[in-house]
Amino acid sequence: MSDQPSADEATVAALLRAARALLAERSDTAALDAELLLAATLGKPRSFLYAWPDHAPTASVRARFEAAVAARSSGTPVAYTLGVKEFFGIDLAVNPSVLIPRPDTETLVECAIERIPMGSAVVDLGTGSGAVAVVLARERPDCRLLATDRSLPALRVAQGNARHHDCQVAWLCADWTSALAARSVDVLLSNPPYVAEGDPHLAALAAEPVNALVSGRDGLDAIRAIVADAPRVLRAGGQLLLEHGWDQAAAVRALLCEAGFEALESVRDLNGHERVSLGRRAADAIR
Ligand code: GLN
Repeated sequence: MSDQPSADEATVAALLRAARALLAERSDTAALDAELLLAATLGKPRSFLYAWPDHAPTASVRARFEAAVAARSSGTPVAYTLGVKEFFGIDLAVNPSVLIPRPDTETLVECAIERIPMGSAVVDLGTGSGAVAVVLARERPDCRLLATDRSLPALRVAQGNARHHDCQVAWLCADWTSALAARSVDVLLSNPPYVAEGDPHLAALAAEPVNALVSGRDGLDAIRAIVADAPRVLRAGGQLLLEHGWDQAAAVRALLCEAGFEALESVRDLNGHERVSLGRRAADAIR
């Protein structure tokens, strides 16, 4: 190979080939990452890359694409570079102050859409990008949605997403259930942090907010805090739905059981892992 890039090294096909090779070590989805970054830099849909493999982007597009590939190769997720991530069929704005929505969380959303009774007061705890709250508000306009997060920068992202998708969500900057009134909620749901400190999996997630991922030695601190206070804020018969790690379902059901929840259930994600556990708050004893 010569030192000077020849004309055909600057085509769409050649740029993608070079980026794939560079990203292969860092990313399991090197080809997809390269295509998403190049399409976004060109301001075209991904199909453009297949239709026009011989197109030669301008030097400025090339430079911006190469910077985006360099960022990816040093660990920046594609979603942060693009500023957007698709979740449940809609585009959500994201930045490094929020966790990037995962397909796993679609299981939580599906469970909620199916199970929430008509007209419920629903609270999404630790909303982050607002993914769960925004999708629920769209899919279940009969419900009243409130979303909390203790991070103000995260709430700003979530509010922007709600505005963009034209849905009504009320917001509260607070830790978990701490600011909620007693007996005020029909359904509580959350995708809290649940990764254990020191989990080797965290190395690959270093660009994302650690507070949205890690929760104590066994990963269950946030879930313990939510389960402990949920009986206070839920109405009798109200439901709590929690996303958790692939190996945490039994532990989460045990916590729900200890806190007096009934009708416990765990629901599997698309990979077959129990990913969401839920229970119903017992009715108050008749006095
Ligand atoms: N499912 C995420 C992951 O392991 C973790 C999300 C979370 O802690 N809520 O990548």
